[in-house]
Formats: sequence, C-alpha cells, structure tokens
Amino acid sequence: MLPQPPNPQHKRMKREKKTIGYMTQIYCKNHHNTKGGEICKECSEFEEYAFIRLDKCPFQDKKSTCGKCLIHCYRPDMKEKVKVVMRYSGPRMLIYHPTLALHHAWDSHRKAPKLAKKAN
Ligand SMILES: [Zn+2]
Repeated sequence: MLPQPPNPQHKRMKREKKTIGYMTQIYCKNHHNTKGGEICKECSEFEEYAFIRLDKCPFQDKKSTCGKCLIHCYRPDMKEKVKVVMRYSGPRMLIYHPTLALHHAWDSHRKAPKLAKKAN
C-alpha cells in the first residue's frame, strides 16, 4: 500500500482540529481566565503546533487518536502540554461538545496504523 499524500481537507482531519481547538479553549478558559472562546498566547501557540503536526501526520484520515499513535511526533514540551490539556478537557468535552467527544472516543478504538505494512 502506497502512503497517501497528506490531505488536510479530509473531514477526519478537520474534525480532529476542531476537537483539539475546543479542548484548548476549555483548558485555557479555566486555567488562564480567557473568555468568549478566546485563548491566550501560550495556548494559541500550542494549538497552532498541534495543527501543524496534524497537517504533517503521515496517516491522515487513517490515523487513530494521537494518544495511541506509534510515532509520537510531538516535541517533549508540547507533549507534556497536550497530556495536561487532554486530561483536563477530555471528560469536559462530553458536556460541551458530546458529538465530537463521541467521535474522538470512536476514533481511538481504531488500531494505530504502522508506517511500513508487511504484505501477507
Ligand atoms: Zn491559555
């Protein structure tokens, strides 16, 4: 199977970005006292970084959730931040954005794909 060219327009990737955007918003609102869906500089840098990683993800619409991925492409400081944000906002997504939260839970049940697939 040939690797597919990245397709950031895929609905799966758009949804992933939306999810991470909301999670960042929830986290920032309650930790940095931002309002009305705005996020602070630190959090917007994080969000931007996460979007770039998604754009560069070699699995694209085939990906599982990042937490399950075999590559772990985040750099160490961002990896820490994503863990904290997810742990805090993950359960709260069920309250604020239940549909996205369900999609995310569903996606995480996919097996994380491997880069080089051996032919059977
Ligand atoms: Zn913030």
